[in-house]
Amino acid sequence: MAEFSWLIDPVYIVTIFFFIVGMQRMSHPLTARSGIVWAGAAMLIATLVTFITPDLTNLALIAIAIVIGGGFGYIAAKRVAMTDMPQMIALYNGMGGGAAAGISAAALLGTPSPATAAVAVVGGLIGAVSFSGSIIAFMKLQGWMRPRPITFPGQQVVNMAVLALALVSGILIILQPAWVPLSVSLYLPLFFVLSLGFGILMTLPIGGADMPVVISMYNAFTGLAVALDGFSFATPNYAMVIAGIIVGAAGSLLTLQMAKAMNRSIPNVLFGAFGATEEDNARIKGSMKPVEPDDVAVMLAYADSVIIAPGYGMAVAQAQQKVKELTDLLESKNIQVKFAIHPVAGRMPGHMNVLLAEAGVSYDKLFDRDEINPEFSGTDVVLVIGANDTVNPAAHRQGSPLFGMPILDVEQAKNVIVLKRGQGRGFAGIENDLFYRDNTRMLYGDAQETVAKLVQAVKKF
Ligand code: NDP
Repeated sequence: MAEFSWLIDPVYIVTIFFFIVGMQRMSHPLTARSGIVWAGAAMLIATLVTFITPDLTNLALIAIAIVIGGGFGYIAAKRVAMTDMPQMIALYNGMGGGAAAGISAAALLGTPSPATAAVAVVGGLIGAVSFSGSIIAFMKLQGWMRPRPITFPGQQVVNMAVLALALVSGILIILQPAWVPLSVSLYLPLFFVLSLGFGILMTLPIGGADMPVVISMYNAFTGLAVALDGFSFATPNYAMVIAGIIVGAAGSLLTLQMAKAMNRSIPNVLFGAFGATEEDNARIKGSMKPVEPDDVAVMLAYADSVIIAPGYGMAVAQAQQKVKELTDLLESKNIQVKFAIHPVAGRMPGHMNVLLAEAGVSYDKLFDRDEINPEFSGTDVVLVIGANDTVNPAAHRQGSPLFGMPILDVEQAKNVIVLKRGQGRGFAGIENDLFYRDNTRMLYGDAQETVAKLVQAVKKF
């Protein structure tokens, strides 16, 4: 195979083109699916062509690892529920970070030049932080750990001390004279233990509601680590460098956009220990007023305009098909129906767009927050379907943990009907005073069943 090794770089260039096309196509919901195929094909080609690298050893072990990893990935991706996607992304992302840290370790176990060692140390640090941090993010989202921030006195000082020690051991690795075999030196395991520890410590104080931002940030870290590792080989691996840069840049942009959608700064996400206290929640007085589907159907049937604000509960209930049915029914009665889409509704960016597109709701009915907010005050009925944090007016109240998060101002509509199963709180654990307002009625039940009842009830008019 070695005689074909001249093919590697040209093929890598082709895969880089594929990655960029894939990325570009992923930026729009209509083309996103094909974007995944382009990027997946690029990864497959890049992996296959790497097998013709001269002097590649351990071929059988590599093949076994690919079969195990690929098999696990295939089965897990087939089985995962849409609502569990963030933790799956956290897990895969962590694996990427761990692989990058492994490549760094392998490079450092050779006899690297100081420059290569420096690149491998930085890549190793970032990859290890991404690995252990992503695992904590996965456990918090999966409910294997308390999702609330875990804090203790002097936490920031401890975190900074661990990071400083990791950096010092990394510098000692770089400065180590070539005649000291790194494999037996103390610095290398110490460096990785400290880096992994820093990833854990950095993620513990971050609350569940901020996890998407953190996962996206670790995704950017993994990209950066992979790009740096691309330089840790005797001949740089340009596919790794460029794929890593693309992932790093895309992850960084997504992190900033998500933080902006929640009106949080990145330092605030990382060090703010965001979450509700019981005093915040006890502040709300009054009671929630239940309503029956038949009463809501009357309101809908006599409305001119309806806005639907979907959230995580619609995804859990898989209610999107019924919601589409209700939309068609209302439109057949000349009632204008629009959808208000909050950028972080659900559990991943674009979650609502994907579900509604799957149900056949056309894109021109979906409006983002800035477009739809001025329309609520003139709207007869807003149906809040399984949304909570993204419609919580506490975001307008100074002192609330949600303060400043741009929300859908549904409370300004003439009538607000909230579809949820009971009195459960939203993802941030913050009580929602929208539910206690005079113009709000609570329609309890699983969203799919409730919307089906609404369809039947509206049909009677
Ligand atoms: P929330 O998670 O705040 O609330 C969802 C509501 O749905 C709950 O109050 C729950 O109430 C209700 N619900 C759950 N299951 C059902 C069901 N089967 N039928 C009807 N209702 C149901 O939703 P939002 O979409 O408003 O907000 C998203 C939150 O998630 C934000 O805090 C955001 O920051 C965070 N987040 C966003 C991510 C993203 O990128 N989009 C990723 C990860 C987190 P009850 O139990 O009473 O039924």
